[in-house]
Formats: sequence, structure tokens, C-alpha cells
Amino acid sequence: IPVDPFDLVIFGGTGDLARRKILPGLFRRFLAGQMPPSSRIIGAARSDMDAEGYRGMIREAIAEFGGDERDQSDQIEAFLTRLEYVAIDAMGDGGWADLAELMQRDVVRAFYFSVAPSLFGALAERLHVHKIAGPQARIVVEKPFGRDLDTARELNQTLAEHFDESQIYRIDHYLGKETVQNLMAVRFGNMLFEPLWNNHYVDHIQITVAETVGVGGRGSYYDKSGAMRDMVQNHLMQLLCLIAMEPPSRFEADALRDEKLKVIRALEPVAPHHIVRGQYEARGDEPSYREDAENPKSFTESFIAMKCHIANWRWAGVPFYLRTGKKLRARSSEIAVVYKDLGHSIFEGDEARHRNILSIRLQPNEGIDMQVTIKEPGPGGMRLVDVPLDLTFAEALGESGHEISDAYERLIMDVIRGNQTLFMRGDEVEAAWRWTDPLIEGWEARNDVPKLYEPGSSGPEDALMLMHRDGRRWREIK
Ligand code: NAD
Repeated sequence: IPVDPFDLVIFGGTGDLARRKILPGLFRRFLAGQMPPSSRIIGAARSDMDAEGYRGMIREAIAEFGGDERDQSDQIEAFLTRLEYVAIDAMGDGGWADLAELMQRDVVRAFYFSVAPSLFGALAERLHVHKIAGPQARIVVEKPFGRDLDTARELNQTLAEHFDESQIYRIDHYLGKETVQNLMAVRFGNMLFEPLWNNHYVDHIQITVAETVGVGGRGSYYDKSGAMRDMVQNHLMQLLCLIAMEPPSRFEADALRDEKLKVIRALEPVAPHHIVRGQYEARGDEPSYREDAENPKSFTESFIAMKCHIANWRWAGVPFYLRTGKKLRARSSEIAVVYKDLGHSIFEGDEARHRNILSIRLQPNEGIDMQVTIKEPGPGGMRLVDVPLDLTFAEALGESGHEISDAYERLIMDVIRGNQTLFMRGDEVEAAWRWTDPLIEGWEARNDVPKLYEPGSSGPEDALMLMHRDGRRWREIK
């Protein structure tokens, strides 16, 4: 879908996120013909440099993080001519007049706040005072969106002083993933799934987001956050919402976000014995979590597993098991909808448990498949085997040019189009914190000590037990 010409200002345009994700992503959109001729990207950050200096920095960023596109030097140079730079201090007055002057009239104006949240208020205020962002402008904000309900509310109020909710795009890059959107296409575009999508047929749902990296260089930052704030409150919660929500009447922003909000509000408080928190140990020369966090007494979790319930008609009695952590066996994210056992098997001598499992893989190998039971081919009699049925045909689509584009570039183009469907609304974020806060307060009050786990494992033993006790098993992290 084409986009209108735009000026995209990236506050924090020299930062890690801008160089690693945002600009290489925009370059891919440029290659795909989605940057109409007068569109520009304006880096704005504290560093004192000119447009040429910034182009040099982004040339290097594309060489380092650009993937397959990094060899297209002619195209890179053409892309770089679209880049401008303004040295600006969010807290001061320098640079704002230059930015105001640089902005084009009659194009979409978008402002990406890729800076610490403590600067959001200052940026919003100055954009307003200098009349750079009018009622048509769009604001993109990054996680973390607060660290609890109070701080999230404050951030929402700060932004609301100068911008309408319809102008604010709270990014959660998980929602930009191809497979996450495909999940909705599969769920709501087929007759086959929705009738079975409830507690009559679904035994349980598992959501795993496993990482192999530790907290490394950002240990002291992470230590104030932990897996619950860093991953569960936003990413896992969003995935859970898309799986559990009622069908929205239309695939559009508020219809979808209303349904997601209802899910969050229906989440029950989680009992302490249904939460397992973990910290990775040292392995060989690799430091332990506490060493990485430079906090020998840290009680912050680098892993969490929990069993949640949604108190509504559709999901009563169906557990949602969530799990995420650092330094696990593989970098792997998956949502698995595990169906109930057959009520009765007609196949004599078949002792195995056959279950349908709908697996939505976010990484690696994004895709959706359904485990189904068929007859083992050959003359060996009526022997049953479970095989995956590929629902995405990613390879076939890939060959015809629909390659899976990165979540960031997809979401940024949605901002330019003015489509908020895949962005979080303020009340959603607050509702998520309203559920999260008491859980965190609970384990802090109990002085809960995270269980240690071996790097490269699937997390602490207790997390396995969380499911074993229920006669269930986690899907393998692979
Ligand atoms: P960073 O520290 O690498 O970059 C910060 C940027 O902000 C720099 O360009 C710096 O010049 C600019 N800046 C700092 N103070 C400023 C001021 N007073 N006025 C104007 N500009 C100023 O940070 P980052 O890793 O790029 O992260 C940016 C934001 O994105 C943060 O809110 C972070 O939480 C969030 N985020 C980052 C990642 C990531 O992978 N890096 C992932 C998710 C969210």
C-alpha cells in the first residue's frame, strides 16, 4: 500500500535503536518504493554534527545492521540524500527553530521519540511551543511505557497535554511481526478455527519468549526492571490478548483495542504458587545474572513463568502458561494452542496421546503450523503419527517477493498511513500495569528469592513443575 510523502523526525536519531533497527528498516522501505520523492528522515539528537556527518553515521549503520541490502551502494547513497540532521537538546531551546524551519508543509509529520521516557514531556512541550507538531502530527513512543501504573499514567497525561490519543503510537514491535498478524488472519479468516477457540476444545495455551543472551551491558538498567516489566507486561500480554480476545467487529484500531482491553481486564490475579521467578547462574567464564547486574544481592528475575486465568465465558478453566527469560536454550518464541485429547480413540493398540496443537512461531522461522494426526504411510497397518501442517506457506510467498519484512519498518509505515491498529492505546497499557503491579508488590513483600537456573537450560526446575503438577508439559525450546 503506498504512503503519502512524509517528514519523519527521529529524536534519538544517533542512538542504538535508530542505528540498529529504525534506519536500516527505513532503507528497506525506500528500496521497496515506499518513500515518495519528497519524503525525508530527520535525525535529531544531542550530538553536534551536520547532515553530512549524520549520513556518514547511517551509511555505517546500514553496513553493520543492514542485512542483505547492505551491498546496494547506489541505492544507499540515494537513500542518504533523504536524510537531514538537527542538533537539538530536548531539555533546552537550541535547535528547535532550525527544526521548525526544516519541516516541509503539506506532508505527513511524524515524530519518533527514540529517547528515554523522561524526555517525552520536554519533547512534547517544545514541539508544541515551536508549532512544529499540529493536530495532524503523529508521535511514536518506545517502550518502556512506565514502570508501574502511576508512571504510565503520568506519561499518558504528559503526552495528552499536547496530543490527542489518535496522534499517539505506542510501539510494541511484537505486534508488527508478520506471524502475529497472520495469527489474526488464520483465526478470523477461516471457518475452521473460531468454533473450536474456547474452553470446550482448548486444553491450555502456552506462550514462550526465550532468549539466549544475558543482560550483559545493560545489566544495571535491567536490574531495576526484570522479566515481568521488561517482557510480560507488554509483549507477552499483547500476544495473550490477540489469542484470547473476542472477534472484533472490524479489523481496525479501536475495535481491536477494545477487545484486547477486555481480555486484560478479565485477567485474574495470579496466586504466588503459580509464579516462578529465576536468575541465571554463572557458566564457565560467563558471569551470573548478579554479576551482570553488578548487584550481588539482586532479587530481580531474568526468567519468569506463570499460570494465568482469564475469567470470562470463553476461557473459564483454560490455563494460559506464560514463560520468558534470558540465557535459555535457544532464541525461540512461540504461542501454542494445545487442544484437548480425543474423547475416545477407535484405533486399537494406539496408546500414544495425539493432540492437535496450533503453533504460532515468532522466531526463528516465523510461521504457523497445526499438528494433526494421520496414518503413518506404508503397509504397517493403522499406525498413527503426528505431523505439522504448514499454514503459512512462507516459502511459497517468499519466492514471489513477499519477503517477511521487519516489524519496525512495517509499524513505521503504519504510522505514516495513520493506522493505529497495531499500536497500544493508553488505557490498555494502564490496564496491563493494573494487573502487573500487585504481582510485583506481592513478591517484593514476600522477599521472594528467584530460583537459580543453568544458562542454556529451559529455566528453573520449578517452572517445569508448574506444568507437571497439572499433568502438562512445556513445549521444547528449540
Ligand atoms: P541510546 O542511549 O542508544 O540513544 C539515546 C539517543 O537519545 C541518542 O541519540 C542521544 O543523542 C539522544 N538524547 C539523549 N538525551 C537527549 C536530549 N536531552 N536531547 C536530545 N536527544 C537526546 O538509546 P536507545 O537504545 O537508542 O533507546 C532509545 C529509546 O528506545 C529508549 O527509550 C529505550 O528504552 C527504547 N528502546 C530501545 C531498544 C533498543 O534495542 N535499543 C529496544 C526497545 C526500546
